[in-house]
Amino acid sequence: MSLALYRKYRPSTFSEVVGQEQVTEPLMNALTNDRIHHAYLFSGPRGCGKTSSARIMARSLNCEKGPTPNPCGECQSCKDLVANGPGSLDVIELDAATHGLVDDARDLRDKAFFAPVNSRYKIYIIDEAHQLGPGAANALLKVVEEPPPHVIFIFATTEPDKLIATIRSRTHHYPFRLVPPGVIGTLLEKICNAEGVKVAKGVIPLVVRASGGSVRDALSVLGQLLAGAGKEGVSYEIAIQLLGFTDGALLDDAIDALAARDGATLFTTVDRVIESGHDPRRFASDLLERLRDLMIVDALGETNPAAILREIPDDQLERMRAQAKHIGSAGLSRSADIAAEGLTQMRGATAPRLMLELICARMLLPIGDTTESGMLARIERLERYESISPTASAPAKTQDKKVAEVPQKAANVEAKSVEPEVKKDKPSNHSFDVAGLRRLWPDVIEDVKKKRRLTWSLLSASAQIIAVDDKLITIGIVNAGARDSFLRSNSDEILRQSFIDVVGVDRKIEAIIDPSVEGTPQSKSAPTKGESLDDPQAPSGLSLLASELGAEVIKVEEHE
Ligand SMILES: [Zn+2]
Repeated sequence: MSLALYRKYRPSTFSEVVGQEQVTEPLMNALTNDRIHHAYLFSGPRGCGKTSSARIMARSLNCEKGPTPNPCGECQSCKDLVANGPGSLDVIELDAATHGLVDDARDLRDKAFFAPVNSRYKIYIIDEAHQLGPGAANALLKVVEEPPPHVIFIFATTEPDKLIATIRSRTHHYPFRLVPPGVIGTLLEKICNAEGVKVAKGVIPLVVRASGGSVRDALSVLGQLLAGAGKEGVSYEIAIQLLGFTDGALLDDAIDALAARDGATLFTTVDRVIESGHDPRRFASDLLERLRDLMIVDALGETNPAAILREIPDDQLERMRAQAKHIGSAGLSRSADIAAEGLTQMRGATAPRLMLELICARMLLPIGDTTESGMLARIERLERYESISPTASAPAKTQDKKVAEVPQKAANVEAKSVEPEVKKDKPSNHSFDVAGLRRLWPDVIEDVKKKRRLTWSLLSASAQIIAVDDKLITIGIVNAGARDSFLRSNSDEILRQSFIDVVGVDRKIEAIIDPSVEGTPQSKSAPTKGESLDDPQAPSGLSLLASELGAEVIKVEEHE
């Protein structure tokens, strides 16, 4: 594979651009009807096809048989401007990110008035246009205000608000979006077929998830997987391992584990953060940011938070709603406090890993309800948890030599003294780790929705994966009513089938009342005074952790 996938499969016509119909259709109509404007603005998140589309626009405008939405592909201009082609003298690409473009912009202003060399239009594609410095922008403005009839500008930017208003107001604005998971999934499947590489079930959804809605990222991740594929193709185990180390996956795994109060997986995730060379401080700061996002999602309830949390794909929002619900308003607020405080302590700390582990340990501690009944509820919860929790938290082991370089140490996490909630796993030989399975939970839920609406409504936003082993996948459902309906309606069979179809794993489904949800409504209500927020006078770090753990142990003993 000499050419990166995203270059190899770069589109050459608008009809080949995936997931941006809101932009490509009106552009194609404009080309068909010969309504050509002299300046365009393509805005949107990175990796969504803005620059590719700008080149396609240039190709469509300059085709000898054009302007046309279907460039002929035969003429010199079409050949020059085909994806990965040599390019054309009349299509000039400038990157404003490089040096503000002052000199280039002056040069452009002078040269723009010369006719194109051998095409209909002279087209300037200005990438990262928001980074045009004031000098360059002013030099350009003159031409954009009164362009010669043969000049067309296409500005591309991730931040249209930062493009100077006098230029922006003269453009036709086309907003690009993150691409929905289904669309990226279909594209990836097509490419795997074209490349003749088999991929196991569950792999494509993992890649889609890692891409965060960016086609470029999706193809880059897929390229890495295909490059490492053996004769038998790309296995789920290889994908889980390779993709388990991206920033997004680590963060998702940590939050999922926190929501499930799954200490084993949370600490395994910390281990993977360190093993894969991520900076613990950076991770703690990402964690805090994600908790902030979850608090916003939680506060807005059913209101669509897209306006505030831009650049988060819809399916990720769905998942964040579920996570927020499981952690609860009080838990989120408390966890954010712990993360913020920990982050401050990490500055200059000599053992940032230890600090990160302390942050996680403190987040896992139950909310500090000191009443007798509250304590009992928590102890019961711990016991319930222990009875089901020997989870498969270690990543799947694989014999494949190809992944030998992938950090494997996560598979043998040492017993840690700071795990208040969960028994250590015995040397386990599970093929599916719970973190990887949780990552695919939203895809499984989507599949359930297609199979039976009722089952979906019982699971969506109120269920999570508690544990997985050789025989069982244990699902925690937030309330008894929903759990009973789930069982009565034989929804376990539907869910089992969806796990088979999406992940390729066949396990019996066990549905329990989610042990991570407090028995009282406190986890869903706003924090009451002195309950969720840590006492500012309280000692921090190790001493606090030790005292809290100590209290927990004493109470458990008393209860017994
Ligand atoms: Zn042509």
